[in-house]
Amino acid sequence: MTVRRWLADLAWLPGQGLRRDVLIEAEGGRFTSVLPSASTAPLASPAPTERLSGLTLPGFANAHSHAFHRALRATTQAARGTFWTWRERMYEAAARLDPDSYLQLARAVYAEMAMAGVSCVGEFHYLHHRPSGRPYADPNAMGRALVQAAAEAGLRMTLLDACYLTGGLDRSGVLPLAGPQVRFSDGDASRWAERVDALGLDEHGMISSHARAGAAIHSVRAVPPEQMHPVVAWTRRRGAPLHVHMSEQRGENDACRAVYGVSPARLLYDEDVLGPRTTVVHATHVSAADLELLGGAQVFACLCPTTERDLGDGLAPSRPLDAAGCTLTLGTDSHAVVDMLEEARGVEYAERLARRSRGHFTAEDLLLSATCDGHASLGWPDAGEIAPGTWADLVTMSLDSVRTAGADDSLALETAVFVASAADVRNVVISGQDVVRDGLHLLVPDVPGELSRSIRALLPS
Ligand SMILES: [Zn+2]
Repeated sequence: MTVRRWLADLAWLPGQGLRRDVLIEAEGGRFTSVLPSASTAPLASPAPTERLSGLTLPGFANAHSHAFHRALRATTQAARGTFWTWRERMYEAAARLDPDSYLQLARAVYAEMAMAGVSCVGEFHYLHHRPSGRPYADPNAMGRALVQAAAEAGLRMTLLDACYLTGGLDRSGVLPLAGPQVRFSDGDASRWAERVDALGLDEHGMISSHARAGAAIHSVRAVPPEQMHPVVAWTRRRGAPLHVHMSEQRGENDACRAVYGVSPARLLYDEDVLGPRTTVVHATHVSAADLELLGGAQVFACLCPTTERDLGDGLAPSRPLDAAGCTLTLGTDSHAVVDMLEEARGVEYAERLARRSRGHFTAEDLLLSATCDGHASLGWPDAGEIAPGTWADLVTMSLDSVRTAGADDSLALETAVFVASAADVRNVVISGQDVVRDGLHLLVPDVPGELSRSIRALLPS
């Protein structure tokens, strides 16, 4: 197995904060040794020592992604509208994808993520079948395209395969699937489970060495309560993560109350969806009673501040979610931007705007959400920190760019979280392999070109 050794000028270590001259070793994709204050490398060195300048962080986990939404960037800024009008444009893009074009697009999107320091992506996947709703010859062809895309871009992933059965809710009741939505559905949750099992998972829930399977209930809009149990049962059998969109919009809450008489959080609680392996995505509009249920169930709450502000969803109640006992994670969701540092500071800034006061989360709190907590929510509790035994993911940030220069090294975490951007990510190592070096992706040579070609093919002018 390949042995790697790095000497980091400045690294963030679990429970120790910032440490200088950290000697880091890895073998077979995992860290084997992490020694702060190392003056020189041991003489009996099995590998050359590579110096890492700037700030070295663990890999980021992008806990909520819909890869194809990347095609809508800028396009949807040219018009007014709401979440619901944006959704119509998103459906148009969804209608045009097939497994080949999705592989091309997703590989470029995941490469963009790697260049922003993401080592693991949670892909919330619901584009399952042909536009007519008929399955492909391999009913998992679209999911496999995403798994392959992550491999080609050098990322680990959790494929959060989403059950999506109905077209929505309004005050009159459950709406049937319409238009592009028909390709999202397996008919019922039992057939959803059969299809996901056909991915051929091993006993650890892995689809391949870099990809594990998880489940998603798209939302209370798309899965009726009586269909939730088979999904929950599947995750229990597999010990797999379970993600669900929840209360991103007041309209969802209103419709859920009109049809089921309770809030989305209460409905999910009553159907046994909430628990320590569950992530609720957004949780923007939640009541005190909802917070009690979510915190009591020890769920992860995945916040996506750049998407939530882009779509005009509202300010996520991060401090109440945290205080209630939820663990916060971060996702770029619609990829309005792909920058985990922007997501991290977005959590703090939303609270500042809502409360007109500063200092709700420290840089270290926000980095925990971007790293180990995000990985744990995706079923990778052994990733997201630079410590022996964990996956060997490293991200180096420039501390001397035009944005980051000038602050004392002791403020490197504040500089990273509140000042730096994805453009300050210099090097990325994932599972012990170099994926980005000096700001360039090593596996996908022309990421902007691939993004441009794959998006133009999808959205012909
Ligand atoms: Zn989403």
